[in-house]
Amino acid sequence: MATLGIPQNTIAILQKYQFHFQKKYGQNFLIDTSVLERIIKAAQIGPEDCVLEIGPGIGTMTQYLAENAGKVIAVEIDKALIPILEETLAPYENVTVIQGDILKVDIGELAKEHNAGRPLKVVANLPYYITTPIIMGLFEKKVPIESITVMVQKEVAERMQSKPGTKEYGALSLAVQYYAAPEIIANVPPNCFMPRPAVGSAVVNLKCFETPPVEVKDEQFMFALIRAAFNQRRKMLVNALSGAGELALSKEKICEALASLGISETIRGERLSLTEFAKLSDYCMAK
Ligand code: SAM
Repeated sequence: MATLGIPQNTIAILQKYQFHFQKKYGQNFLIDTSVLERIIKAAQIGPEDCVLEIGPGIGTMTQYLAENAGKVIAVEIDKALIPILEETLAPYENVTVIQGDILKVDIGELAKEHNAGRPLKVVANLPYYITTPIIMGLFEKKVPIESITVMVQKEVAERMQSKPGTKEYGALSLAVQYYAAPEIIANVPPNCFMPRPAVGSAVVNLKCFETPPVEVKDEQFMFALIRAAFNQRRKMLVNALSGAGELALSKEKICEALASLGISETIRGERLSLTEFAKLSDYCMAK
C-alpha cells in the first residue's frame, strides 16, 4: 500500500472509491508528510502506547500511528470511508476501526477492552465543527487519557493556551488548563489539506494532569461561574455573575468574595486566573 499523505496517492484512492467529501463531517484530509511526522513526534508515540484516533478519514495519519504505536483504535463516523480504511490499513494488524460518532462512543470501555484500562493517547486531525465538545467530553467524562495531540483551528489552539488579560482568554482556556498543560506545536496552512479549509490550523499538544493544578470544592460550580463570567465578558465580573440566574448569587455576596480575595470589585472576568476562579467558587459555595 502506497503511503498516503502524498497528494497523488490520496487523489488515487479517492477516485478509486469515487469518494465525495462531506462538509457536514469537517472532512479536510492531510496531504503533507512533514506535518504528519511532526504530529507523531509531538505525541511521543511508542510501541507501549495505545492510541485513539478520532476521524481517521482515509487512514493517512492512521498509517503513521500504526507504524509507531503498539495499538491504534480509530473511530470514524462516515460509513463511506470504512471500505477505504479496510484497504489502506490492510497491512496493519494493530489497528481496530470502529464506525461511529466519537461523541457517543464509550471511551472508558475502549481503554478497558484494548489497553487493560490504562490511559490512552489521543491523536487526531479533528473535525473542526465539534472540536470543543470532543475535547471537553474527553476531559469531563474523566476517561483515562495521558495526552491529546490534535489539529484544530488556529484561533482555537491560541485560546487553549492563552493567559488572563489577553483577548483570546476565555472559558475554553480555563477548562483546558484545569485538565492539561497545552502547547502549540506547529501552525499549519490550508494548503496542507484536501480540500483546503477556509481557516488556518495548528497542532496543539495537551498533557493531561493526574490531578488538577488547583483545588476546588465543586468543579461544576466553578465552571458555571467561569461560563457566566465569559458569557458577558465586557461586563464587570460582579454584574456578569449576579445577572446569571442559575448561579443564584447576589451582588453583595460576590463583592464580599472578591474583597476577601483582595480583588477589586470593578474587575472583569477576563483578568482572573484559574486559581482565583477556584477561590471565588469555594468562597461563594461556603456562604
Ligand atoms: N485523519 C484524517 C486526515 O488527517 O486526513 C481526516 C481528518 S478530517 C479533518 C476529520 C475526520 O473526522 C473525517 O474523516 C470525518 O468524517 C471524521 N468525523 C467527523 N465527525 C466525526 C464524529 N462525530 N465522530 C467520528 N469521526 C468524525
